[in-house]
Amino acid sequence: MAASATAISASAVVGIKPVQAATPSASALSPDQALAALKAGNQKYVSDPQVCTMNLAQRRGEVSAHQEPWATVISCADSRVPPELIFGGLGVGELFVARNAGNLVDTATLGTVEYGAAVLGSPIIVVLGHGRCGAVAAACKVVTENATFPGSIGPMIEPIIPAAIAVRDKPGDFIENAIRQSAIRTAGRLEAASPMLAGLVKAGKLKIVAARYDLDAGSVEFLS
Ligand SMILES: [Zn+2]
Repeated sequence: MAASATAISASAVVGIKPVQAATPSASALSPDQALAALKAGNQKYVSDPQVCTMNLAQRRGEVSAHQEPWATVISCADSRVPPELIFGGLGVGELFVARNAGNLVDTATLGTVEYGAAVLGSPIIVVLGHGRCGAVAAACKVVTENATFPGSIGPMIEPIIPAAIAVRDKPGDFIENAIRQSAIRTAGRLEAASPMLAGLVKAGKLKIVAARYDLDAGSVEFLS
């Protein structure tokens, strides 16, 4: 117990307390404020990762009966892209997250983010791609080499192929361009695929953005 108390007190000294005090809730934030909070959290993760921690036991207690996540993230399943950490060491109850290889939107993911936005009131949806994404690289290999992949991996990456084809002849790195194009395209498709989400965007209650996470720098670049 003594060691735990000491740890909490030390944490407060290095800046955890202001972070916890700033924990937003969905109903309190506009889409632009949620975007600003994500950017600030990522900046903190890049520049001061040592303060990206919090009293998880306290947060667990605060949200156990009710959740009000203030941002929804569709991210790749890649083990190096954990949304809660890269947006500044967020705790339980803050992000509504759907993950799959390639940060794609199938029926399950679409229903998940509709629930996050329409039922839970999360004011922003981020489609988060990342550098050196294996799923996008695989889709690029389908385009350039007609590659095939075992099991359900081939069908899974099919939605990335139109994005890869769209940037195939563009200058620069093919895979990197496809990563960006796929995230932008997926973010754009959300509104087209969901009248529910489109209505929230139109009403100013929701923003849908694409972003790219840099594995080396830890930074998130917002693309749209
Ligand atoms: Zn990936």
